[in-house]
Amino acid sequence: MSTMVTRFAPSPTGHLHIGGARTALFCWALARDAGANGTFLLRIEDTDLKRSSASAAAGILEDLAWLGIGWDEGPEFADGSVTFGGDPRKVGPFHQSQRQAFYDRAFQQLLASGMAYPAFDTADELAAMRDRARADKRTFIYRRPEGYDHAAACARMQTEEHVLRFAMPEQAVVVHDAVLGAVEFPFAELDDLVIRKADGMPTYHLAVVVDDELMGVTHVLRGQEHLNNTPRHVALQQALGYRTPVFAHLPLIFNPDGSKMSKRDKDKAAKKAVKVVGVESALASAGSVDGFSQTADSLNAWLGDKTAQLGSDQLGVLAGVLTLELPEIEVEDFRSAGYLPEVVCNYLALLGWSKGDDIERFDMDEFSRRFTLERIGKTAAKFDREKLQAFNFDTVQHMDPALLAERWRAWCERYDPQVPQVLGERMAMAAEAARQRAKTLRDLRAPLGFVFIADDEIVYDDKAVAKNLTKNEGEGLCVLRDAAVMLGGLADWSPASIEGAINDFAESQGLGMGKVAQPIRVALTGAAVSPGLGHTLGLLGKTSTLARIERCVKAHS
Ligand code: GLU
Repeated sequence: MSTMVTRFAPSPTGHLHIGGARTALFCWALARDAGANGTFLLRIEDTDLKRSSASAAAGILEDLAWLGIGWDEGPEFADGSVTFGGDPRKVGPFHQSQRQAFYDRAFQQLLASGMAYPAFDTADELAAMRDRARADKRTFIYRRPEGYDHAAACARMQTEEHVLRFAMPEQAVVVHDAVLGAVEFPFAELDDLVIRKADGMPTYHLAVVVDDELMGVTHVLRGQEHLNNTPRHVALQQALGYRTPVFAHLPLIFNPDGSKMSKRDKDKAAKKAVKVVGVESALASAGSVDGFSQTADSLNAWLGDKTAQLGSDQLGVLAGVLTLELPEIEVEDFRSAGYLPEVVCNYLALLGWSKGDDIERFDMDEFSRRFTLERIGKTAAKFDREKLQAFNFDTVQHMDPALLAERWRAWCERYDPQVPQVLGERMAMAAEAARQRAKTLRDLRAPLGFVFIADDEIVYDDKAVAKNLTKNEGEGLCVLRDAAVMLGGLADWSPASIEGAINDFAESQGLGMGKVAQPIRVALTGAAVSPGLGHTLGLLGKTSTLARIERCVKAHS
């Protein structure tokens, strides 16, 4: 029997936000630490039918699986050798859209005890109440009207559109939070919240309370943005005769500038860039890209509304044509940027939690063993991309070459399939050649541009040619000709052997290494910068190397 049940309960309205991943990771770690007594479950909160989608839910499962945050119970997921989810305790289904019968039972119970009541206010009436509150400078708190006739209202609700509201008991609610301590919410701040919408669907508040009870959830970990919801949940739990689980509210995640890290940050960055070039010009470049569906009017409306969001695809197109790097916010952003999942998890573990010593690098096994609610912080955590990058850089630099190649291949298959197609068996050598400055897997491609160009399409950089080949009556070209002869005779074409041969050649000619290496570089890549020569030549192979040198000599003699 599980004695500890944690849950991650995302709403499938878009990609998984990095803050959501942090919540999932902490829930996972707490359950893992309880060993066989711990269960981590995943519940899909899709009661908002308009905003939820099956594809977003599938994407969230995929992102969690990629991060290595496996769930014991919940929607089933299989990818290669990993399988997550299932329903050993028979507490499913795990999509709220399939749990209406449970919510209906709770509505009946609350109606019967008079703790829930139908309300018939129209949108206009509610707006007028809000306006009145604003004019009186008080917060709008909905209460059951004086002299409300419950029996008459229950009869009326059979035929009239209505919502169900919870009659908030007239008392303060104290939330005992494992991180924040006791937090008291006076009755005056707690309204009679809607628990069933006009379409019969439960609101988030009701569904979450019913499900946490029926699924035996013992520990609710979620972001501090939910703290104001918690007294409502506690009051509902009491009204329904449920247990109150342990609550632990996790610190918010802020950008370095102190603003809250949110999906809107991407729109913010894109709006700034579009304003600089102007709507007309942005549209002129983006308009021809497949799938871009904005008009001047829609872009202007988006620019004029601080909260308006365009959606990832549309932003992606704008970022592409404006050569703008959008801030990474969602797990998918970090994944496509080439971060390694274990590094992302390590970094997330530090967002609002500390191990108690100065050691910041650890694996998830250690994290789950050391994780305790007591070490969760109260104050906002800053998301420091440079630190995450430094972690990732460090891991890329120290990874076993074969493993690095394997991880890079998997990344490329999703984001840059041309790379494995062109490199084939040479992936490991290429990864080794390119890793020195690579912070992410995506960075591995840039230093290898020369491999993706045909031998007869290398474009020579004028300055590099002048400096390394034609200067001093073609001194570099002479060296290049002799080097080609030497390389033509080299049998072992491994990076080490090539490197050794070029060294020996430079020595035998009485030349410094630069005098030999730079002409070869320019001939092979067109530029004066490339990975180490052994790897550069090794990747090209002997035939291409000799063909490129011959073409270069001809072009500049
Ligand atoms: N569906 C809610 C969300 O995505 C879950 C909140 C909770 O954990 O209770 O924010």
